[in-house]
Amino acid sequence: DDGGLYMGFDFGTSGARVMVIDEKGDLCADGKRMYPVVPEAEWASMWKDTLFSLIQSLPAEVLSRVVAVSLDGTSSTTMIVDRKSGEPVTRPILYNESRPQALPFVEAIAPPNHTVSTGTSTLCKLVAWWIEGGSELEKDVLMLHQADWLLSLLHGKLGITDYNNALKVGYDPETEDYPGWLKAQPYASLLPQVKEPGALIGHVASDIASAFGLREDCEVYTGTTDSIAAFLAARVTEPGEAVTSLGSTLALKLLSTSRVDDARFGIYSHRLGDKWLVGGASNTGGAVLRQLFTNEQLKELSSQIDPSQPSPLDYYPLPRVGERFPEADPNKESRLSPRPASDVEFLHGILESTARIEGRGYKALDELGATPLKAVKTAGGGAQNVVWQKIRERVLGVPVSASEQTEAAYGAALLALYGRRGWVQTAQENLVSSTS
Ligand code: ADP
Repeated sequence: DDGGLYMGFDFGTSGARVMVIDEKGDLCADGKRMYPVVPEAEWASMWKDTLFSLIQSLPAEVLSRVVAVSLDGTSSTTMIVDRKSGEPVTRPILYNESRPQALPFVEAIAPPNHTVSTGTSTLCKLVAWWIEGGSELEKDVLMLHQADWLLSLLHGKLGITDYNNALKVGYDPETEDYPGWLKAQPYASLLPQVKEPGALIGHVASDIASAFGLREDCEVYTGTTDSIAAFLAARVTEPGEAVTSLGSTLALKLLSTSRVDDARFGIYSHRLGDKWLVGGASNTGGAVLRQLFTNEQLKELSSQIDPSQPSPLDYYPLPRVGERFPEADPNKESRLSPRPASDVEFLHGILESTARIEGRGYKALDELGATPLKAVKTAGGGAQNVVWQKIRERVLGVPVSASEQTEAAYGAALLALYGRRGWVQTAQENLVSSTS
């Protein structure tokens, strides 16, 4: 693959990105588009236009060297498409939409505390569509995730997904099959075939290659979800290594040799080669900081905090009532008192308390059977705060660093690279040792 380049797309919540890297992981070109506001009925065609416009925005010289492509989309964004044409027969059902009316049906067939037993799961979206009239189209349609559909526009095949995207529809990546209780359902015929993330699907369709100046032999690989792509971007390879995302919420992702799932806490595990990516998300995090301080104030106040000193303040910052992980309590109230006269002390208390919740989260994963925490990389808006990093290092008791790359599109490009090289894990380790 001398001089061959690897292209990754990220279709996130507010916009899409492309990144092209070389075999060492160095960035060669990138592009970004915010989604325009369009009526629901045009969401799918808007994504398609965005995909093509991102490709077109790249230099011809770069496009002509791309040997492999992959793409991530928002998890559980669900599409129902025509079996032959791939045209959506209904508007996409977005990642954050809930279909609680399907929950009784899903809970009646799934084992207790299963990942599908939440209103936003792909399975609840599919079942709701099915019982509300979709069953009449049984013979004519397929279900796809956003990433599957967008990739199909490039390779021209329908009905293929990856086991990261398929997790929330009920696929079991451990047995590499849909479970029996799901296969027995009448809508099982709509479910896509599942491959490993970063598995070869085929070459780009020849009309796509000629339209965009891509090579005829440019390969398309199965994708993943946006949060897994962001995790891949951090290039974490060892069990016990984790990525904490300090965005609006506090999201924990730990690479583990064992799988942990518990719907009560919203904890579930994605398979990554021979390891598991165990994740949980707390409602605490940057959203509360944003309610209280501007980013400028955060910088200014943080610089006055001594991170070696523990704060005695014990807060539980929440932007609204309710917590899921590390404790499941829908009635949990935010606690930000007593508020000291000094804003520096106040912020110290918040950062320290959030670090304690992060620590409790990793401890909870450990207690549920995941690999114990060894080191943490940080992503999200809070990753730039070095004072917070030092506080977290003291509270967590493991090395904490900022992640060099956090863009999901970078992770998707790595997935294309790993896919082309073979097993995700092996390639990832080779890549890291060859560059470090
Ligand atoms: P989102 O989850 O919305 O994508 P981002 O990853 O962009 O969030 O992170 C934004 C959050 O980061 C905001 O809530 C903001 O309060 C927080 N933030 C920004 N700068 C700092 C800082 N210096 N220290 C701590 N938090 C910060």
